[in-house]
Amino acid sequence: MDGRRERLKELFLDIKDCNDCGLCNTKTRFVFGSGNASAELLFIGEAPGKNEDLQGLPFVGRAGQILDDLLASIGLHRGQVFITNVLKCRPPKNRDPRPEEVEACKGHLFEQISIIGPKVICTLGKHSTQLILNTKKGISGLRGRVYRTEERVVLPINHPAAALYNPHKLDVLKKDFERIKTFLDKEETEKERPVKDMGQGPRQLGLF
Ligand code: SF4
Repeated sequence: MDGRRERLKELFLDIKDCNDCGLCNTKTRFVFGSGNASAELLFIGEAPGKNEDLQGLPFVGRAGQILDDLLASIGLHRGQVFITNVLKCRPPKNRDPRPEEVEACKGHLFEQISIIGPKVICTLGKHSTQLILNTKKGISGLRGRVYRTEERVVLPINHPAAALYNPHKLDVLKKDFERIKTFLDKEETEKERPVKDMGQGPRQLGLF
């Protein structure tokens, strides 16, 4: 044991009653995230949805089932990774996170990243990708690229919910998960795009 599980627990207790933005008044349950505190692979989604809000767990609806299936396709399960979101409380009617909400909540996420210290961060969809890479670009221009520093790789991919009604997007996700596996196995050799190309992004955020 290296203390990461205990530190994550302490963080959970510190922030579970957070009221730093208005979502604390409309949520049902705070959704910290779940998984392995020593995970090499961290997934970051957007925000809890209806089912997550009710259960207090991330990715438990149909998109969560897709995520489980994709993990299984590369020989992984939830107990080996950590899954969380940019926002820990559900926006009403699943609307997009507002900038002030992301600003209020991002410190919780950065603390989770600091404690877990994953080798690979996989951002799911636009909102987490824009936050982690500190960019306004859309996910379609970022997915498929690799952002790396000495310690960490960031792989933006589509949100699993995008595949619910689109088989093509599911195929793209499957391919992206195969790439995730190669990074975890340290066998990736393809062309990389340096983080500095994105401006001060992750370094500015103090994540790396
Ligand atoms: S969304 Fe984040 S900042 Fe807002 S109340 Fe919930 S935990 Fe706090």
